[in-house]
Order: sequence, then C-alpha cells, then structure tokens
Amino acid sequence: GQTDYMIIEETEVETQIAFQDRKRIGIMGGTFSPPHLGHLIVAQQVGEQLGLDKIYFMPDAEPPHVDEKESIPAKHRESMVRLSISGNPLFDIETIELERGGKSFTIDTMKLLTSMHPDTDYYFIIGGDMVEYLPKWERIDELVQLVQFVGVARPGYGRESIYPIIWVDAPLIDISSTEIRKMVKTGRSIRYLVKEDVKDYILKEGLYLDDEY
Ligand code: ATP
Repeated sequence: GQTDYMIIEETEVETQIAFQDRKRIGIMGGTFSPPHLGHLIVAQQVGEQLGLDKIYFMPDAEPPHVDEKESIPAKHRESMVRLSISGNPLFDIETIELERGGKSFTIDTMKLLTSMHPDTDYYFIIGGDMVEYLPKWERIDELVQLVQFVGVARPGYGRESIYPIIWVDAPLIDISSTEIRKMVKTGRSIRYLVKEDVKDYILKEGLYLDDEY
C-alpha cells in the first residue's frame, strides 16, 4: 500500500525497487462445495483493500475433514469455481492441490508455491470461523513465517487469535456452503446466494440432492 512506500528511505533506491517488484498475491483455500457470494465478496474486498495483484481461489482435492463435510467430486467444485471467477480480472484459480490429489497440508502447498514464485508475497485469506482452528493447522508456526494471514469476519465468530492476522473489514455475509447444500436438498431457491451460472450448474448436474455428495 501507499504507506508502505513512505517508510522507505529515499536513499534506499535499490531496496525500493526490489520492494516494488514483488508481487502481492492472495490465496483463498477452501472446499467450495459450492462457491458462493460470500467467498466472492470477501476476496474482492481483501484484494482491493490490500492492493493485491491477484486472488487465487484454491480448491482442495479432498476436504481436510471428509467425514464432517459432505463433498462432491473435485471436478464439479473446480467447474463451479471457474464459473464463479469468470469475468473478474482480479480473480483466478490455483489448481495445484487438485493436480496433486489427496489431502494437502497448506504448509506443503505454500512451500511449493513460494519456491516456484520467489518474487511473490502470499496473503492467505481465511474467514473468521477458521481462526480458532489455526493452532491445529499442520506446522502452523512455519506457515505464519511463510504467508501473511488475512482474516475476514464471519457472523458468529470473534477476532481473537494468537497468530498475527491482518483483519480486513468487509460486509458480514451470513452465507455458507453447508446452508446452500441444505437448501438445494430441500428444494429451496439458492438464487442470489451463488452466481447465476453456478445455480444453473448445480441444478443441471443434480448436485446436493442426496447424501452421496
Ligand atoms: P462449509 O459451510 O461447507 O464449511 P464454507 O461456506 O465455510 O463451507 P469453504 O469452502 O469451506 O466454505 O470456505 C473457504 C474459505 O472461505 C474459508 O476460509 C472460510 O472461512 C471462508 N468463508 C466462506 N464463507 C464465508 C463468509 N460468508 N464470510 C467470510 N468468510 C467466508
């Protein structure tokens, strides 16, 4: 951001160039079953407020707690993420975990990404519901050295964290994938909760109608 540039001494020209050359990339990891407007609003707000060059939505190949969260095949989730991000030049998809398959620890994925892109600073975006679980994340102490966590408040969750988090203010959006899956199953409309294309995709493919997702 602007203020960051101002703290650099005018004489430190080389440092300044190196600083300006670095890319600032947001990563939003998740299961996206399905991706909804909450994800998109959060990503847009973080991207704009932190002045990020890009936000990558990164679907997991297998949700970390597969027994707790019903999941449909990754190819459907990937398709719906692609439909969700289309038309927004700030958004893109990162398929590294899908390609690797199986369960991925965020620390391993981010180590891979930072070694592939040493010129990039990563901002890992999480909703307020994830913050209390951070201490349980695999090698979290290493991960907080590697990426900057960015938190976005979510209804029903506080802001306490023992790890450094940049909080970004965005409208509180009380939409969750869990609720959307329930609504589809019980025949309620999900119009305006997900992008129109995603709604059509869910209905056309008959997703979330039974318990086998
Ligand atoms: P589920 O209801 O199945 O747990 P979800 O709606 O939380 O799904 P995920 O794909 O698990 O969606 O979320 C990916 C990331 O987006 C997580 O960091 C989550 O906290 C964040 N997120 C999702 N919905 C919101 C929301 N409405 N407000 C803020 N953050 C959100």
